[in-house]
Amino acid sequence: MSVYITTEPANRIVDGITPDWIHPHLIQSTDPIKGRQFRVSGPIPKGACLLVDRPYAIIPVDENPDNLICSYPACNRPARNPERNPCPNACLPDVIWCSSTCRVADQVRHGFECTWLKRYAGPIRSKWSEYDFGMLWVIVRLLAMRHSQLHKLSAASGDASVQQLKHGWEGIDSLCGSSDTWSHDKVRLWSTLVKKYLQSSSAFPHDMGIDRVLHLICQEEANSFGLYPRETGHFPVPKPPVDRGEQYAAAVYPTAAIANHSCSPNIIHKADEKGRMVFTASRDIFPGEECCISYFDLTQYNDLKSRRDHLRKSFLFVCQCQRCVSEEPVEEETEWDALPMMESL
Ligand SMILES: [Zn+2]
Ligand SMILES: [Zn+2]
Ligand SMILES: [Zn+2]
Repeated sequence: MSVYITTEPANRIVDGITPDWIHPHLIQSTDPIKGRQFRVSGPIPKGACLLVDRPYAIIPVDENPDNLICSYPACNRPARNPERNPCPNACLPDVIWCSSTCRVADQVRHGFECTWLKRYAGPIRSKWSEYDFGMLWVIVRLLAMRHSQLHKLSAASGDASVQQLKHGWEGIDSLCGSSDTWSHDKVRLWSTLVKKYLQSSSAFPHDMGIDRVLHLICQEEANSFGLYPRETGHFPVPKPPVDRGEQYAAAVYPTAAIANHSCSPNIIHKADEKGRMVFTASRDIFPGEECCISYFDLTQYNDLKSRRDHLRKSFLFVCQCQRCVSEEPVEEETEWDALPMMESL
């Protein structure tokens, strides 16, 4: 049994956060090398749902209008119906609501991002890249969500609902990732983008300094999820292999971000129709075992070298999962042994 199992109540994995569903046996613990991780305190049968986590910020990344999602965080459903509503201020075609009800309910949150989108989306997309735009928009939506929660908080008359309204930001605050996680080139680029586009101004007022916003990018880049139409992480890879499909959104989840990677994961993950990240046990899991997801599509990288190459480039760590270690060639020292072990996500 692991000595790292905590005694925290399972439904309060991070203070102030309650995901929509968390299995009573799923707990957060800390590993001296990997940092935060999920473990189970009791047996979990294959097929059990372990976690349903609402996104704190989500953006569509697919230009196909059929794949746009409702911008209202309490909804986030696909918005392909004829009643869907665009923004009256025409800030961005990607911003859509599935109904006028959702649009009206989302006024405070969207109001925070609307002027920013109208002013900067075009210039950022043409001067930088679609990726950079998506990254900055996720940051703006993180701040917009926090803004709308603080707004509701000040409107609420101090009661039990206050705790509910705080959902999530503590989880965003505690995400791993810092400027030390990333290369100097990347941090320099992000620093430029923050100064140019994310500083507090009359059009984009917020209470965070440049350094805190830069830190938020370092956290977001280490923790965001892609959303795909099919599951990620089936292992062994089915034959013939079925990939997870084209990415349609990107999101940050306060609790799901705790999961570490394995190339032979015991959890599959996929977002549901409301954009919530769902973790499902892909085999029986025994008490004390760590619960891992796969950070990439296992059908795309098969052999040890391609998996470790991909993880090192995209996630900056050398994978030491059971599968990778078991596939290492015996005796001869590999080039990986010479690299320092990096903390995983
Ligand atoms: Zn909606
Ligand atoms: Zn707008
Ligand atoms: Zn691995």
